[in-house]
Amino acid sequence: MIYLDNNATTRVADEVIEAMAPWYRDHYGNPHSAHALGRRAHDGIEQARAEVASLLRARPQEIVFTSCGTESNAIAILGTLGQRPERRKIVTSAVEHPSVLALLGELSRRGEIELATVGVDGDGRLDLEALRREVDSSTLLVTLMLAQNETGVIHPVEDAARIAAAAGALLLVDAVQAAGKIETDAGALGADLLSISGHKLHAPKGIGALYVREGVTLSPIWRGGGQENGLRSGTEAVPLIAGLGCASRIAQQRLELQANVRLLRDALEARILAISATSRNGAEPRLPNTASLSFHGLFADSIVAELDAKGVCISAGAACHSGAVEPSSVMKAMGKPIDQALGTVRFSLSRNTTAEEIELAAALVEESVSHLRKGAAVAPRPEEGGGSTRSGRAASQAG
Ligand code: PLP
Repeated sequence: MIYLDNNATTRVADEVIEAMAPWYRDHYGNPHSAHALGRRAHDGIEQARAEVASLLRARPQEIVFTSCGTESNAIAILGTLGQRPERRKIVTSAVEHPSVLALLGELSRRGEIELATVGVDGDGRLDLEALRREVDSSTLLVTLMLAQNETGVIHPVEDAARIAAAAGALLLVDAVQAAGKIETDAGALGADLLSISGHKLHAPKGIGALYVREGVTLSPIWRGGGQENGLRSGTEAVPLIAGLGCASRIAQQRLELQANVRLLRDALEARILAISATSRNGAEPRLPNTASLSFHGLFADSIVAELDAKGVCISAGAACHSGAVEPSSVMKAMGKPIDQALGTVRFSLSRNTTAEEIELAAALVEESVSHLRKGAAVAPRPEEGGGSTRSGRAASQAG
């Protein structure tokens, strides 16, 4: 098996599994209990908090543990609402993750916010001028991802921070795909709030964190025992928190391995782009591990299935519901022609990916594409217009 779907999720590091085990087996106390086992669990949480803070160059008291990136984004967005009722506008980009866009869409439909969505160009670059025009004195929050999950394109978050700060608005940075792959310094980015997710950086699923800059106040979205500084009630998942702490420490220590990941990604891209009628999506700066590549005229889910059968795990950039194939919203936002958008797949590497795996994966892609191009799984030409209908297994992109 060659796993090239690390933006969907990563393998939990062996050290992380080892770091978690004692918190299940031995130190299982409730961190709020007033006995030795409770104190031990409390100390474990605080150690992990310091490790996560260190990855984000933040202070430990600025880290709130959550269950995932989706929850971190929700706590940040819903938590800012109600803090300043005179401001109702939220500005975001067209290529944010559904955990942001679906929530903002719902809030907008309910009339609770005024939503402004800023576009990207054909290379996935944010329209900063449009952002500047949209952010005004009625803006409560600007929410922007640091790195795009499908293309890996890195957004100009520092510029967005300056624009937000000048208007007195808060900035939420979705750093779920960035943390652990590129330097993610919450303060230097100018973030007021910043989300990360454990399972994207070799920690388990079910744990995430939200950085809340000192001085920023959020309203909790649910109430209870007042854990996590009152922001996220519920008994803390101590083993998962310990796992995220360990994964953060390792990610920080091994950040330089990402230079090698970039070399491997570039080698894979070069091999694939040598195939006729292929193209790359997204301009630099990009994450070192992500390659969004289009196979013109082919259906992404056919490529995913063909490679799956050969033991290579990748993601499709197109969603298929009830037989109607639609390009991903990110490819649509980038204005990609339909025959390219429908044939877009994502390869995402990790620090565990080897040169041998990349060599083999590239050969299998060449073989698969040649096979598919001789066969029937062909997407419409650009002049045939919008979505297309075909039978076939749904292959939407995770993460
Ligand atoms: N934000 C981005 C950019 C993502 O890629 C993901 C992953 O799916 C999320 C948020 C949601 O993270 P989680 O799966 O931990 O809820």
